[in-house]
Amino acid sequence: MSERKATNITWHEGEVTRAERERKHGHRGVTLWFTGLSASGKSTIARRLERLLTDRGAFCYVLDGDNIRHGLNANLGFSPEDRAENIRRIGEVAKLFTDAGAITMTAFISPYRADRDRVRAIMAPGDFVEIYVQAPLELCEQRDPKGLYRRARAGEIRDFTGISAPYEPPENPEIVLDTATHDPDGCARIVIDWLVQRGVLPS
Ligand code: ADP
Repeated sequence: MSERKATNITWHEGEVTRAERERKHGHRGVTLWFTGLSASGKSTIARRLERLLTDRGAFCYVLDGDNIRHGLNANLGFSPEDRAENIRRIGEVAKLFTDAGAITMTAFISPYRADRDRVRAIMAPGDFVEIYVQAPLELCEQRDPKGLYRRARAGEIRDFTGISAPYEPPENPEIVLDTATHDPDGCARIVIDWLVQRGVLPS
């Protein structure tokens, strides 16, 4: 689905550069790619981070699972092929947001290592920050904020990550957040400290 069909196309650089946009925003553009089981806390932490960063005057945006599946990826399901295409498109969108200078946060299970690595590969070095949101499956199942685990266990949802579909944890994520031991605010602050240390955000 991702093969190139258009020919005779060229990439246009604008008159305004990314560096100029970043100076205006007062920070670098970056993609914070949250990955983890359903209910591990990706969305909650990304939203908290969006609040804290916005309060500091940063330009940020969250790309969130269900919202993207309503529109851009409405024609995709949960087979491995469709999951790969889902992540590929989100990666391309995140790349554009990052070029716009946004602190771009993506909150998708993104269970396959190869799919995440493919996104890393299309981004410039340093633009892709993989954040593994870690929580034991049992805890995610206890939380079950949308009742999805219950439905998956009852056989009502096929290909559910952690139950009937695999999750491949990152091997070298830039950041690991353990949501069994850190609350959402604590997790968001770990990310902010990391961004400041790496010079993405001013201190
Ligand atoms: P995901 O986006 O990974 O599917 P959500 O953020 O939608 O997960 O749901 C996580 C649930 O777990 C929420 O109900 C949230 O309130 C709860 N939760 C409890 N502790 C934490 C934590 N430390 N970090 C994030 N979420 C937490």
